[in-house]
Amino acid sequence: MLDVHDLTITFGPTTAVRGVSLTAAAGTVTGVLGANGAGKTSTLLGILARAPRQSGRITFDGADVTGFDTGALVRAGIALCPENRRLFPNMSIEDNLLLGAYGTGRATRRTRLRDTYDRFGWVATRRAEPAGRLSGGQQQTVAIARALMSAPRLLLLDEPSSGLSPVAVDEVGAVLADIARDGTALVLVEQNVRLVRALCATAYVLAHGQVTASGPVPELLSDTAVSDAYLGTT
Ligand code: ATP
Repeated sequence: MLDVHDLTITFGPTTAVRGVSLTAAAGTVTGVLGANGAGKTSTLLGILARAPRQSGRITFDGADVTGFDTGALVRAGIALCPENRRLFPNMSIEDNLLLGAYGTGRATRRTRLRDTYDRFGWVATRRAEPAGRLSGGQQQTVAIARALMSAPRLLLLDEPSSGLSPVAVDEVGAVLADIARDGTALVLVEQNVRLVRALCATAYVLAHGQVTASGPVPELLSDTAVSDAYLGTT
């Protein structure tokens, strides 16, 4: 589904990502782990053409999409659920959701809203309320639902567990597992080991912008050197 080859991203003098290659398959959750500043967010933004790529080839569904801009990538079926959710707290839940389908026609927006409300019944009930009134976990679910409004086949998620209680993390985990079961490919940037264990079959560990380990999650997390790097102690 997604094949990233030799991605390098620089911000002025800082090289945030150095020659990262990774793949993600339909119906699976692929983890991207690493300490703060390891280059995880930059990798996601690089895939979506929202960070300056110095090199890298992005293949999506067998097509070379390296030259696509962000809008074209979203239309091709890639969506991002950004770090810190980025909802507009004073806007209604429904208006927040509609932002995820920006640029599509009225009929499409209506169909996707209906699909969203079918999937998340409680969101339908509260759709007129300001998003800021929801709990952290509920806001994260709405942020995920907003990303789904572009009907992606690949969903990039940047630390969806951030700032949530353990119960809310489990709820978000169940939402993500359900989305993967429907055949969507998920790339999950996470620091929450429990969530990674619960969702990811395979994962990549980044340190200083490079992939330092990758493979099946149980093996990966049983390696002390990897856990140390992952937990940010090295
Ligand atoms: P975190 O978990 O803290 O979000 P991360 O693994 O997602 O960390 P990135 O946010 O990708 O890491 O940052 C990687 C490196 O790139 C860091 O050194 C960071 O300071 C730098 N960086 C990221 N974005 C920018 C930017 N817009 N301008 C300059 N430097 C940046």
